[in-house]
Amino acid sequence: MATNNLTIRYRREGTTYSGELWDGTQFSGWEFRKIIGRIHERMLAIIAIDTPSVTFIRSDLKIERPYRLEEALCQLIKTDPVAAVRFMSPNPVTIRIRDNPPVKRELDRKSTEPQELTGSILVVGHDVLADTFGYWVYTSRIKDRSKAECLVCGRWASLEESGELKVLNCQECGAPPLLLELANDKWLRLKTTELINFATLSGLERLFIPRNWGYSMGGPWVDVSRLAEKYTQFKKEKSYVCND
Ligand SMILES: [Zn+2]
Repeated sequence: MATNNLTIRYRREGTTYSGELWDGTQFSGWEFRKIIGRIHERMLAIIAIDTPSVTFIRSDLKIERPYRLEEALCQLIKTDPVAAVRFMSPNPVTIRIRDNPPVKRELDRKSTEPQELTGSILVVGHDVLADTFGYWVYTSRIKDRSKAECLVCGRWASLEESGELKVLNCQECGAPPLLLELANDKWLRLKTTELINFATLSGLERLFIPRNWGYSMGGPWVDVSRLAEKYTQFKKEKSYVCND
């Protein structure tokens, strides 16, 4: 079986789903988040550079119309399943975080009308990914291929090659050189844990992160301690998506 595509056959039963996963596993009465959680786990288990593609096939229609998710959305399922559920959920989603006391949070959904999963048009580009928070932080916007935003001072720093990675070297503030991964030609990214480590080891109390989620924390400057708290919260939400 090809590992570069994950096909899910499903039928809707009210607000839950029944069907079959790519490996023949039958499921019934699953919530949507659980399907996404399984896809996410499978993606992490596959050791491949490319993120597998994902195809949904609704099995209770006369004509089967496979619906292949766009690449950016597959990436989102891999890196941030909570955000993926949020984007794709056919129904309004309430994420219950297993906390003491329990915290309930209604997620932002403009429409409360149930939609068909295969009917919704999903446009998820890298700019949307850049505004999500999860295992990765989209740290710096790239300018003219040779410059990127400095996380320490917010000015344009020079960008140099280092094998597969990029080195951000800021002459403006003299921040320690930082190795970042190229997400695409517009964005650099770094694993959130590595970002927190970098800040802690460099003695930085705040970072310049002009992303939507950063503004909700008083950005563009984000306190490193609050960043660490947010990451802990993300992992709790993620365990809700991925656990039964
Ligand atoms: Zn700088």
